[in-house]
Amino acid sequence: MTVRGLFGLAMVGVIGAGAFWVWQRFEGQPPQIEAPQSILLGAEPQTIKIRIADEDSGLRLASVRLLDQTGSKTLLENTYPGSLSQGGAPGTRVQSLDWVLDAEQLGVPDGQATLVIDTRDWSWRDGFSGNRTERSIPVTVDTQPPSVRVVSGLTYVYRGGSGAAVYEVDPESQRDGVQVGEAFFPGYPHPAGATNRRIALFSIPVDAQPKVPVQVVAADAARNQKSVRFPARVLERVFRKSELPLSDAFIDQVAVPLAEGADLSASDPAETFQAVNETLRARNEATIQERLEGGSEQPLWTGAFQQWPGSQVMSRFAEHRTYVYRGEPISEARHYGFDLAATAHAPVTAAGAGRVILAEDLGLYGNCVIIDHGLGLASLYGHLSALDVAVGDDVVQGQPIGNSGDTGLAAGDHLHFAFIVGERYVDPLEWWDPKWVRSHIGVRLER
Ligand SMILES: [Zn+2]
Repeated sequence: MTVRGLFGLAMVGVIGAGAFWVWQRFEGQPPQIEAPQSILLGAEPQTIKIRIADEDSGLRLASVRLLDQTGSKTLLENTYPGSLSQGGAPGTRVQSLDWVLDAEQLGVPDGQATLVIDTRDWSWRDGFSGNRTERSIPVTVDTQPPSVRVVSGLTYVYRGGSGAAVYEVDPESQRDGVQVGEAFFPGYPHPAGATNRRIALFSIPVDAQPKVPVQVVAADAARNQKSVRFPARVLERVFRKSELPLSDAFIDQVAVPLAEGADLSASDPAETFQAVNETLRARNEATIQERLEGGSEQPLWTGAFQQWPGSQVMSRFAEHRTYVYRGEPISEARHYGFDLAATAHAPVTAAGAGRVILAEDLGLYGNCVIIDHGLGLASLYGHLSALDVAVGDDVVQGQPIGNSGDTGLAAGDHLHFAFIVGERYVDPLEWWDPKWVRSHIGVRLER
């Protein structure tokens, strides 16, 4: 090829590359915006997460404004490095815009507002201003908490004991109930009350801090929360402490099979017992909490509950147990129920009417039944030798549900009976006492 020919080819190449560059700089792909469809903003500041991207020319500008009844507020204005010839600088193709939206700080009034996100890229389109994407997001501003009015009067509650609170809330309340320290006890529609009247059964958890405040709380969809002090007087009590010696035979015959059944590995008898008493116990409690969810919103029982007829009390509620192996304390647990004994394999009956929500082998509890009584109340029966009911069965008070036994972590034939309010174990003694149930719960369930 001649020199002239070579030169001609090079020119075609240069012009071609130039045309490609111009064509590339005129690309018409606008930036992309990933943002929430709508925002519900309460009094609590809320982190808003927006992601913008432009893969072709790169991001050039981004702004976020809030339009409300008082005008326009610029929340954010970013420019990104780059040039018209080269496009966006490397590493600026994708940006995360996270910031905190605070209604009070911005002086945004309650009502409707709009969040406007505006972004451009480094394309030559639109007279070298770039491709543009604008997105408007509706914002509902609601900083007012729901109103709460406590209806029921002064209540005395023992530590580990139960109580009932009656209150009225705005219909906009989405989550309400009684808060006792870290424990939350959900409220339910009052069975005999007006539309906005609610009842929450609660307890003072055994491990709650001294002088724990008892509050009725209500929160709306925007998470505005109102707390009102509930007039509860906490009566302190001391729970029994005991030491339980563990024999090698007990660990071999009871703890080892439980550990193996739960796939827990341990290298010696003490570790085996610890794995069962701590790891398996925590797993079993988690299963119980899962099954308690979605219980009846209506009371399924009436009056007092029944202690297992003809049974002897072997151990009481909330006793603190220290397990001793070869003279050394190796593990602890609080015994959140009553141990009741009758004759071996005696029929066990439902303490009150309700619906079976668990009937299966449950680790430490052995063959176990849990009955939901409604309003967050439940009873648990452990160590059974046989089960007579299945999940979903409706039972009446006194109905046989199985036979006593020594399945699970048990040293002999007995019934472990536990009573549950919300997500906490409570002392069943109160619920077995017709006078207490009448004066503390019954009167508050009536109109
Ligand atoms: Zn027990």
